[in-house]
Amino acid sequence: MAVPSRVTSKAKGRSRRAHWKLSSPNLVECPQCHETMLAHRVCKNCGYYAGKAIVEKK
Ligand SMILES: [Zn+2]
Repeated sequence: MAVPSRVTSKAKGRSRRAHWKLSSPNLVECPQCHETMLAHRVCKNCGYYAGKAIVEKK
């Protein structure tokens, strides 16, 4: 329910936000170049995904 911000105490707001946390990215090893990369994404290092070259290397 919406409550005016002045009604909610500093402690109440802060304690609610105490659960806001950053989650660490899911890192896996690239099967092509064995570089650490984000899961389910094209490898930043070699441009491969699912065994195929998706991004051309310059
Ligand atoms: Zn790679």
